[in-house]
Amino acid sequence: MLTPWGFPDFDAHEALHFVTDRATGLRAIIAVHSTHLGPAGGGTRFWHYADDADALTDALRLSRGMSYKNAMAGLPLGGGKAVILANADRSKDEALVAAFGRAVDSLGGQYVTAEDVGMSVADMMTIAGQTRFVAGLPVEGGAVGGDPGPHTSLGVFLGIKAAVRRALGKDSLAGLHLAIQGAGSVAGGVARLAAAEGARLSIADVDAARVERLAAETGATIVPVDALLSTPADVVSPCALGAILTEESIAALDTPIVAGGANNQLATPEDGTRLMERGILYAPDYVINAGGIINVSTEYVKDGGPELVRQRIEAIPGRLEQIWSESAASGRDPAAVADSMAQALIGR
Ligand code: NAD
Repeated sequence: MLTPWGFPDFDAHEALHFVTDRATGLRAIIAVHSTHLGPAGGGTRFWHYADDADALTDALRLSRGMSYKNAMAGLPLGGGKAVILANADRSKDEALVAAFGRAVDSLGGQYVTAEDVGMSVADMMTIAGQTRFVAGLPVEGGAVGGDPGPHTSLGVFLGIKAAVRRALGKDSLAGLHLAIQGAGSVAGGVARLAAAEGARLSIADVDAARVERLAAETGATIVPVDALLSTPADVVSPCALGAILTEESIAALDTPIVAGGANNQLATPEDGTRLMERGILYAPDYVINAGGIINVSTEYVKDGGPELVRQRIEAIPGRLEQIWSESAASGRDPAAVADSMAQALIGR
């Protein structure tokens, strides 16, 4: 019999909770990878999965990723993640979200939730009606909170600048060409910051209206979705989907730098090695995209205000430098170096 302990991505999770609420039809998995550094922090994903095993795999991988991300950002949080198994039409109502909030509450603070794909600020407010173990709530009067997206974008922008300094010896993005995959929340923020510094942009998104709006705002050139990753550019910045760096796509890259905000960019660990073998500088995703969780953590833990958020985001380039230097010294690829650093921080 296959138990969760035998599951390929189990990686010694501290706890795995399977939630059912018959009244609302809620089915959810709350994965707690590590509470070594604090309560397990990570968002809730509302998604329709082809089967339950896919949902479990997603929860386990995302949860471990949060342990690594939170540790590398120096946050007093462990790592966890929840998935709500949506119907095929991905409809949800307040009663279901509230039932999920009660499930989070029943864990007594072992897990703290926030937004992820398919969950909004309004959903977090519904959850907050049931539990205090939630963040990503609307901001009140200069306090820390709200949409994590702009904070993620700022961290990615600063990380791109660090990569440009290291690989190209330049202190500014002025005159450089950035190819950005996506035109959503994170991509949009990166594009605006880079355009303001004088970068030339190419962008792509499957949502035609979205990409046109962002192009009009930033002066970017729109390129076909399937051409974005192979666009000749100074920086390729994946800010849409995961698992886009594969043997095939890496062979087609025409850039010295890959640095973007999307989660889980490498399809397999070997793809980190492939990037290094091609001489491409890679910014490990969970290090460069930590700005959002930095904001969420500071909101939840209440250990500081917007200034602390800013300081923590400004520490992202230094962390990347540390990884790249260690990578250069050891010959291991930056993603593998980051994983080892994160594992040491969470005592694994
Ligand atoms: P979003 O939904 O606002 O934007 C994603 C965009 O990607 C959408 O516009 C979508 O149409 C586009 N897209 C989908 N498939 C595409 C394709 N094949 N080619 C090009 N574009 C495509 O989401 P977001 O919040 O901007 O998140 C983007 C990525 O960053 C995700 O991987 C997310 O997990 C990651 N991330 C986000 C945050 C945050 O604070 N929002 C934090 C950390 C990581």
